[in-house]
Amino acid sequence: MSYLRLAGLSKRYGDFTAVEDFTLDIEQGEFVSLLGPSGCGKTTTLSMIAGFTTPTSGRIEMAGTELSRVPANKRGIGIVFQSYALFPHMTVSENVRFGLDMRRVKGAECTQRVVDALELVRMGGFAKRYPRELSGGQRQRVALARALVIRPPLLLLDEPLSNLDAKLREEMQSELRQIQQRVGTTTIMVTHDQSEALSMSDRVVVMRDGRMVQVADPLKTYESPADAFVSGFVGKTNLLEGRLVADQEGRTMLHLGELRLEIDAASRTEPVSVSLRPEKLRLVPTGQGRLSARVVGRQFAGATWHYRVETGLGELMVNAPNLGTPSHASGERVDVDWPLAAMHLLDTEPRPLGP
Ligand code: ATP
Repeated sequence: MSYLRLAGLSKRYGDFTAVEDFTLDIEQGEFVSLLGPSGCGKTTTLSMIAGFTTPTSGRIEMAGTELSRVPANKRGIGIVFQSYALFPHMTVSENVRFGLDMRRVKGAECTQRVVDALELVRMGGFAKRYPRELSGGQRQRVALARALVIRPPLLLLDEPLSNLDAKLREEMQSELRQIQQRVGTTTIMVTHDQSEALSMSDRVVVMRDGRMVQVADPLKTYESPADAFVSGFVGKTNLLEGRLVADQEGRTMLHLGELRLEIDAASRTEPVSVSLRPEKLRLVPTGQGRLSARVVGRQFAGATWHYRVETGLGELMVNAPNLGTPSHASGERVDVDWPLAAMHLLDTEPRPLGP
């Protein structure tokens, strides 16, 4: 049986539906991210689990217990919300020990757990400082220590790394994941940063307009997005409109502009959208690829070059690794090539969410 069961959770404000029918079983120790654009209902979902927002309908069960009548402060959930700030009049260590005081953990055990929690987030040297004496990122780490010190069965994180600079953010992503795996805490994290969700989670829930659009592991979310929205939101992609046509020999042909490609898609119906990730495309000498093109723009991004090329199918994004060799110049004629397997076919109509 799953550890946390969310069944048909909905939240309406008057006529407006912030979250609609959120249903998910989460295993113990799992790390699940809620990913989606601003206003899609991520925080509202988290807040219902925390007990700060009362669901309009639906059930939340944790370890077999229905939580709807359990007040937020009795749920024992560790919470790191952006709005859930540190107490300004308490030092870092007082902030962290607060939850232990509430639970009457005393003496040497209390002191040791505070020290351990601060070490865990690399804030051991800051115990005596006040929140105003810390950077935004340091505050976030203290907030994390404060949540973890009570050893919660469930940890809820709302954009926990949003105040960090890019480098520290990446380090903390990997550290937070390691801490979570070491401690084994079931964790739900809200983020609108797709790379954060992909790099940290066991499963990603993509949301849009209050609804779940896809639930899958990170690789599947990226490689097999459920629809055009997910493919465009989780990473960048080229979306091409095509048609599937059965030819006289019974093969399924994908028509993309002038291109005719035989593909294995017996169960699909036309028309289709095709998602082609920029990193799956290659620029090759003219006459050697599927599609002729002209380079119309390029951007250097350190490890990669980002090209824009004009083709008969419209403008495409192509990412190429920086191999130290001269790159393609604007105006240059090239061909674009890709393996057939790189094409991911999407229904043009959104599909209902499958298991
Ligand atoms: P963000 O990434 O910007 O934090 P989010 O996905 O977390 O967005 P929510 O905060 O869950 O989005 O909000 C979902 C929708 O519900 C938004 O359109 C928001 O305006 C609306 N909403 C949230 N709280 C209330 C409220 N108390 N009254 C009315 N509408 C609300």
